[in-house]
Amino acid sequence: MRYERLLPGLTITVVALLVVIGGAIWLQRGEEPRAFMIASASSYASEAGAEILRKGGSAVDAAIAVQAVLSLVEPESSGLAGGAFLLHYNEAEDRIDAYDGRETAPAGATPALFLDEEGKPLTFLEAMIGGSSVGTPGVVKMLWLAHEEHGVLPWEQLFEPAIRLAEDGFAVAPKLAQAIARDPVLMQMPVAQDYFYRRSPDGALIPAAEGDILKNPAYAETLRRIAAHGWKGFYEGPVAEEIVATVQNAPLRPGTLSLQDLADYEPKKREPVCAPYRAYRVCTLPPPSGGMTVLQILGILENYDLAGMEAMTLTSVHFIAEAEKLAYADRDHYVADPDFVSIPVSAMLEQEYLKKRAYEIDASYTMSKAKPGAPTDEHAMRWGENQPIDKPSTSHFTIIDGAGNVVSMTTTVEGPFGSHLMAGGMMLNNQLTDFSFLPEVDGKPVANAVAAGKRPRSSMSPVIAFDDEGAFYAAIGSPGGNRIIGYVAKTLIALLDWNMSMADAVALPHFVDRNGKLEIEEGTALEEMAPQLRQLGHMIDTRELMSGLHGIRVTPKGLEGGADPRRDGNVVTEEP
Ligand code: GLU
Repeated sequence: MRYERLLPGLTITVVALLVVIGGAIWLQRGEEPRAFMIASASSYASEAGAEILRKGGSAVDAAIAVQAVLSLVEPESSGLAGGAFLLHYNEAEDRIDAYDGRETAPAGATPALFLDEEGKPLTFLEAMIGGSSVGTPGVVKMLWLAHEEHGVLPWEQLFEPAIRLAEDGFAVAPKLAQAIARDPVLMQMPVAQDYFYRRSPDGALIPAAEGDILKNPAYAETLRRIAAHGWKGFYEGPVAEEIVATVQNAPLRPGTLSLQDLADYEPKKREPVCAPYRAYRVCTLPPPSGGMTVLQILGILENYDLAGMEAMTLTSVHFIAEAEKLAYADRDHYVADPDFVSIPVSAMLEQEYLKKRAYEIDASYTMSKAKPGAPTDEHAMRWGENQPIDKPSTSHFTIIDGAGNVVSMTTTVEGPFGSHLMAGGMMLNNQLTDFSFLPEVDGKPVANAVAAGKRPRSSMSPVIAFDDEGAFYAAIGSPGGNRIIGYVAKTLIALLDWNMSMADAVALPHFVDRNGKLEIEEGTALEEMAPQLRQLGHMIDTRELMSGLHGIRVTPKGLEGGADPRRDGNVVTEEP
């Protein structure tokens, strides 16, 4: 054979070989795991998540392990007998999923749930403690659903770290110790009394202190059931029976929660709501979550040059506070469970509407109390104002796995220690107090009134932000009662307008205006600004502002995490 004839064939073979090898390398690079990161309110929880990620688990797998541990080590904040919202980003498919695991009111609940015999609203403490505030828990079934869609490791494996900790014991964190010491009623509650206190030789109750080791075998047993039987391990059988018996036989205000309510509970997948902000796109959950109010605050502020006003100056604080007033006013008028009331979500987020709202801001004086706007004629002024009361607890964590999947999840038992009832080693939530206690105000129905099967309105706002090329940029969320919305909005501004690092953004001094006073964080530089803020007409309330912001941001140098210095959490990251 002549050499010249052989050449083309050889060339084709060599080229083909190079393509195959190159392709293989490219493919491998594409699948190459990257660093993972977890930011949560507890180092135990972050470590549990990391253990799952090291085993090849996904962000959702890790979230399940994190939540199972938080329920144990931060029982005052969140737990498996509570509710949550989970936002998930799947990088490979460029897809966002929004999971609603909010509690529902039992079938026996009526609009008068929190009214006394004379039709007057109960005090918050009266309403919170006992059985009637307990909503049908949503966390476990929501996590099950997310695991069905995004889980990699087997469900039962995800509970191992929490079972180990519940059996071997964990050291009480400063915040838990403080919450026990501060609580006015925990020591009088059955079960909780035996768990969170020990008896001195003379019979006095001594609260668990920071560093004390607590073991929770009842919770380990609950976890084993959930691990073995999936969601049914919680919603049916002994765990469900114990929850129902505890609520129905509560020593204070027994509730109606039944086995049927548990059997009927369904988590919801909702269409995420996203809105542009500057060069970014910010996504969150729709109502009943608080996310759309965060988007409204940003949408109003988009009309002003916050970067030019600079971080935490008198002008930027004033403008952000005014935007918050406007957005909170809309929220207190319109937002509730979308399956029960019609909420004009897209009209409320329309740029033109928000521009009109923005022009209500006066640079030289506060509007004091904002009125709700009229996003559509149909909805305008239809409802009475929801006057919310809630006590901050809750937890937020953010996870990114080695494949670039992100979980941003806020989770809660509502107030500190929820209803204060304990079953299966878990605190039962008091989420129903997130409903308006008054079903009617000034002759108008309140959108967020109690109804059987309805989800109470929430402030929880897990967000994920994308950059101008649509790539994941940052994820964040926080506890803090209805101040959550203000905390999350301001942290996004710090990241997106003021280009702060995640650690600096979460540590920034807090101010929030929920359409009343301008609350500023005590012991921070904002106190020095107070006289000037007063000159702008703001009523100043200086106080502790307990957030728990835990977020992750992508930078050219890699992942960057932030754990709120106000809480006991941390950031764990690992290169592959
Ligand atoms: N239950 C509140 C909500 O869902 C959160 C409570 C808190 O953060 O303390 O809005």
